[in-house]
Amino acid sequence: MPASKGYATLDAKSALGPFNFTRREPGPTEITIEILYCGVCHSDLHMARNEWGNSVYPMVPGHEIVGRVVAVGNSTKKFKLGDIAAIGVIVDSCRHCPPCVRGEEHFCDEGVTLTYAVPDRVDGSITVGGYSSNYVVDERFAHTVPANLDLAAVAPLLCAGITTYSPLRHWKVGPGKKVGIVGLGGLGHMGLKFAHSFGAHVVQFTTSLKKKKDALKLGANEVVLSSDPDQMKAHTKSFDFILDTVSAPHALDAYLPLLKQDATMTLVGLPEVPPSFSVFNLITRRASIAGSMIGGMPETQEMLDYCGKHNIVSEVEVIPIQKINEAFERLLKQDVKYRFVIDMSSLK
Ligand code: NAP
Ligand code: ZN
Ligand code: ZN
Repeated sequence: MPASKGYATLDAKSALGPFNFTRREPGPTEITIEILYCGVCHSDLHMARNEWGNSVYPMVPGHEIVGRVVAVGNSTKKFKLGDIAAIGVIVDSCRHCPPCVRGEEHFCDEGVTLTYAVPDRVDGSITVGGYSSNYVVDERFAHTVPANLDLAAVAPLLCAGITTYSPLRHWKVGPGKKVGIVGLGGLGHMGLKFAHSFGAHVVQFTTSLKKKKDALKLGANEVVLSSDPDQMKAHTKSFDFILDTVSAPHALDAYLPLLKQDATMTLVGLPEVPPSFSVFNLITRRASIAGSMIGGMPETQEMLDYCGKHNIVSEVEVIPIQKINEAFERLLKQDVKYRFVIDMSSLK
């Protein structure tokens, strides 16, 4: 078994530090990827600090992975040695339940295998994430990457990208629709880029006035400071769809009155404390609150291909792995434009 290196946290309160472990040799349909870049998702921070109460340690986070194929099993079809491959939040599923057969592996009836901190379906070990030198995965759960895109800026597409692309497609965001994106962070800036690219009228909600210029540059038609009640009121009953990407507790009641009759607000952000809201804000317009989680394998590939065709990537700040703890702190202060990506060549 080849020796692997990574950065792990040993408990909810510790900083991440160097960690040695092993990965298995690839099985017949598996590939080994040498990781080139890994994005830093806010979920990595929630998980590292056990904010959802289900963390397992030691934990190597990371699920926005782009790398080079350095070993293949004897029956792989999609990848060969030297190819670029990408992995997101899911590395396995039962593969035979109705959602898996439909390509909606994220809704697997038996539960998905996440990229880190859950039991591996093949060998029962705990999965070790992408803040590491390599990954072994079945090629069914790896994606090809359009050749024209910058690889560091592709990495965040594997979580932030698909998590916003999927609900915007599902709720048919496009020309003639007025769409709100709440929060301009890693997910939010990808939601903004996609909604703009799909031809909608996009309103970016933010708590950070200093991000206004960037939001307009990234494709927002309007930017609203969500803490200003007058700016919010001006949009009453006007939205077809709102996508909420916020990572911290916040008031949904500020947004629900902005929905048109029969419109939907979809939550993808996962704050530690569950949100509360007034039912009156739903019944008075027959509005819906919904949720959405990443996306299945076919839709993730569709999203990557769409990005290749339309030249869409994430705005990134590339960091060495040694800066990961500082990056977590900066993420909490909303001090990132707009996704940290680890250059894994820094992992010596
Ligand atoms: P992020 O880069 O930290 O962005 C979160 C944004 O939320 C911030 O940039 C900020 O935007 C806003 N925000 C932060 N604190 C706030 C507060 N107290 N009140 C109001 N707004 C606040 O995080 P991310 O990586 O995009 O992840 C966002 C959330 O999505 C996390 O909870 C993550 O776990 C979750 N997530 C869910 C899925 C899924 O499948 N559903 C997948 C990935 C991530 P402004 O400065 O513009 O206000
Ligand atoms: Zn993520
Ligand atoms: Zn399944």
